[in-house]
Amino acid sequence: LVSREIYPHDTVIDVGNTPVGGDQFTIMAGPCAIESYEQLLETAQQVKASGATVLRGGAFKPRTSPYSFQGLGVEGLKIMEQVGKEVGMDTITEIMDVNDLDDVARYTSAFQIGARNMQNYTLLKAVGETKHPVLLKRGLSATIEELLLAAEYIVATGNPNVMICERGIRTFETATRNTLDLNAVAFIKEKSHLPVIVDPSHGTGVRTLVGPMAKAGVACGADGLIIESHRNPRESVSDAAQALSADDFSQLMQQLVPFIKAS
Ligand code: PEP
Ligand code: MN
Repeated sequence: LVSREIYPHDTVIDVGNTPVGGDQFTIMAGPCAIESYEQLLETAQQVKASGATVLRGGAFKPRTSPYSFQGLGVEGLKIMEQVGKEVGMDTITEIMDVNDLDDVARYTSAFQIGARNMQNYTLLKAVGETKHPVLLKRGLSATIEELLLAAEYIVATGNPNVMICERGIRTFETATRNTLDLNAVAFIKEKSHLPVIVDPSHGTGVRTLVGPMAKAGVACGADGLIIESHRNPRESVSDAAQALSADDFSQLMQQLVPFIKAS
């Protein structure tokens, strides 16, 4: 069902009021984690002013260490709903547990399925039973075929509103956090009608590399970008090394314009 052979036209998905796919180019941005109302509001105002239409931010955080900040949970979802309304942005947040499905769907415009849950088939089927848009992130060591089959789970269960996200994979390379696989973007655009979003933040893990790889993502055919930005990157409780300041983010958005127009 996700194949272009079955359905040749680009799928366009409505994330709240933001269309994703087809002729659109969508910028999703915000902090790694929702830390407080003030932090999310200020960051949202900054990224919106630079052109983002979808606000990202985790309320349920899949942290490597159990002692790291785990997110504000439902309280964070409520903050996200309020900030989204106040600033006029659509919203996306990660869902980790089927038990949170109703809350995440109620308070936000789209589900994000994180890399660590790409093959959580119970979760894939659960979001598949809704019509809520889903951004499916590639697993840390998942092949493109495994990624497309994970998307197939959601669509086959009944939810056609799936966006695929390339966020870097594990390789032997240690200079960067992950290796952003842009082959995957061009390949999936050829094989599937679903929108593809590039995440240069997790794809590199390095602030100075986010811009170059964002441009590369546009150039190879992505339908949008998801970028981590924080009102004060040094204070970010998670993924501080890859967060862009408001100035960095605004500069990058200006630099992207010719790439988006050309593609
Ligand atoms: C995130 O978007 O903050 C995140 C945890 O992403 P990933 O699942 O790609 O690691
Ligand atoms: Mn993050």
